[in-house]
Amino acid sequence: MPRSPEATATHCPYCALQCGMNLRPAPAGDAVTVEERTGFPVNRGALCGKGRTAPAVLSSRVRLTEPLIRTHAGGPLVPATWEEALDAVAAGLARTRRAHGPDAVAVFGGGGLTNEKAYALGKFARVALGTSQIDYNGRFCMSSAAAAHQKAFGLDRGLPFPLEDIPRTGCVVLVGSNPAETMPPFVRYLTELKANGGTLIVVDPRRTRTAELADLHLAPRPGTDLALALGLLHLVVAEGRTDEEFIAERTTGWEDARAAAMAHWPELVERITGIALPELRRAVELFCAPTAAMVLTARGPEQQSKGTDTVGAWINLCLATGRAGRPYSGYGCLTGQGNGQGGREHGQKADQLPGYRKLTDPAARAHVARVWGVDPQSLPGPGRSAYELLDALGGDVKALLLMGSNPVVSAPRAAHVEDRIRSLDFLAVADVVLSETAALADVVLPVTQWAEETGTTTNLEGRVLLRRRALTPPPGVRGDLDVLHGLAARLGVEKGFPTDPEQVFAELRRASAGGPADYSGISYARIEAEQGVFWPCPEGSPGQPRLFLDRFATDDGRARFTPVSHRDAAEVPDADYPLLLTTGRVVAQYQSGAQTRRVPELNAAAPGPFVELHPRLAARLGVTEGTPLAVTSRRGRAVAPARVTDAVRADTVFMPFHWYGEGRANTLTNPALDPVSRMPEFKVCAVRVEPA
Ligand code: SF4
Repeated sequence: MPRSPEATATHCPYCALQCGMNLRPAPAGDAVTVEERTGFPVNRGALCGKGRTAPAVLSSRVRLTEPLIRTHAGGPLVPATWEEALDAVAAGLARTRRAHGPDAVAVFGGGGLTNEKAYALGKFARVALGTSQIDYNGRFCMSSAAAAHQKAFGLDRGLPFPLEDIPRTGCVVLVGSNPAETMPPFVRYLTELKANGGTLIVVDPRRTRTAELADLHLAPRPGTDLALALGLLHLVVAEGRTDEEFIAERTTGWEDARAAAMAHWPELVERITGIALPELRRAVELFCAPTAAMVLTARGPEQQSKGTDTVGAWINLCLATGRAGRPYSGYGCLTGQGNGQGGREHGQKADQLPGYRKLTDPAARAHVARVWGVDPQSLPGPGRSAYELLDALGGDVKALLLMGSNPVVSAPRAAHVEDRIRSLDFLAVADVVLSETAALADVVLPVTQWAEETGTTTNLEGRVLLRRRALTPPPGVRGDLDVLHGLAARLGVEKGFPTDPEQVFAELRRASAGGPADYSGISYARIEAEQGVFWPCPEGSPGQPRLFLDRFATDDGRARFTPVSHRDAAEVPDADYPLLLTTGRVVAQYQSGAQTRRVPELNAAAPGPFVELHPRLAARLGVTEGTPLAVTSRRGRAVAPARVTDAVRADTVFMPFHWYGEGRANTLTNPALDPVSRMPEFKVCAVRVEPA
């Protein structure tokens, strides 16, 4: 395999931290070796085990290196040429469109796709297929935080400040986030915070590795983070700790939000959350004592059927105490997937156009249509959200093109989603390995991996980064942009789908110009010269690492409080399902595990699922460490060995969700949706646990 002679500066393929690394051609065996890239400010050379071992998938024997086609229903996938495979995909999509209309064809993307791919995929769906049915797995990641951010501040960027601000604040409240396992190099920011005299509060039903670093760990009952935030705000008001000047000058809607919070008495909040009043008071004291503080949320509060309101409640707490739009203060979301942020900015989402524009906004449609050279009237309207789209497969949606996602493992109510996928007339999957979803496809397209292609991603700070191609891909694989180019041509759209990522980025810049996520001033050269560029970045701008310091992005420049009230999770324990299940990740695996389960070192470290339960619950069930447990919800059953630990609440069990087979945690999870963000309630459902 031809290799570049020099080390190439690039970024990890996995999570939203997008750690910098250098890739150097390896002498033998692996395609490249990973070296530290100490000059990149986000991780300063540090990498977790996933990043260090990422090259293993490049040279893995199990990666796909030739297209596969299923020639007849129920038959095996057999090798095919690229021409045959692309012809088959185009024919499958066109046939469905002809028979049932454009919305019978759907596209499902991924939060790991580069900005260029996300942009091209959105354009492909709307221009080449003419379908409204496109969404992506990032909907499962940050959509509640995005909706709340948008509502409160008028603009959604995961973190409205750079990571380097975290150690300079006085207190960080981490809500439902476990970076010690999900993004270990991030922990440095927390240890520096503490070294500088700052404090850390972790809100998590489990005493995670991150919680062990905290000055205060609050372990609410899963699904009650909203009540917790309301209780803290109640105490803030009762103790006279609000910042009246900030509220008057920079916000609107305080009176209603205040009234809603005052209806949540601390005693009520104690009862709902299971957190004692002295701990609530201590949290308020830690948060309010310094002049600056931050609240950072992740999937815990966001993946709930009230995720938007829950994040809104934490934002209210920031606003009421003047901890937003000021140096070293504010609310931020720790995005999960590598390009979850950029993926939602450039048109993969059902309701959005490039530049984070609304698909329903006539001016946005006209602008993007002009860039695309099409009639604005021809652009479809908003489609279904991710789960609703997956749930519609086999119904009015009959064909699916899926790129960079493995919903058979990662979607809620996963066995049902698998059934829906199996009932499709036609499924095409572009992926690097034969994931559990790809194995169901009629056509599998083997595509290039991160180190074999150039493209941009946008990390959790809103910093646009460049991954440079470091080695030549195997001859049998092609890039996703080549796939879209080939399919569009076969569908009769000869122009508009270039295969050169820099050309796609140039078009993305034009399409985003003037929008909320304006990339028009960003170029590959600038990204390389400046170690990334923060959006919004109109032509001529230096980029904006810190947002909202002068004004918020709302029409009147003021942040908006949202009056919110506690409500129960969609499922609460009862006689049949007396326990709560919450799910999450382990340090050695990433998302659906499609890549990391194929890395021997990671697989050895985390070979399979488990059920974490409290010793009191274990004693009640008569089980010990390692006993196979059956966990049953209203949607299905999963079996995995017991892991007995007092790190989890006695009314709650925890399962990681990276695996397929009998231990597939998402078989159990609840697809009840948040009414605004359409986020499913991954983080809490009612279950029964018994020895298997
Ligand atoms: Fe990769 Fe995230 Fe690990 Fe950094 S923290 S090396 S980006 S997986």
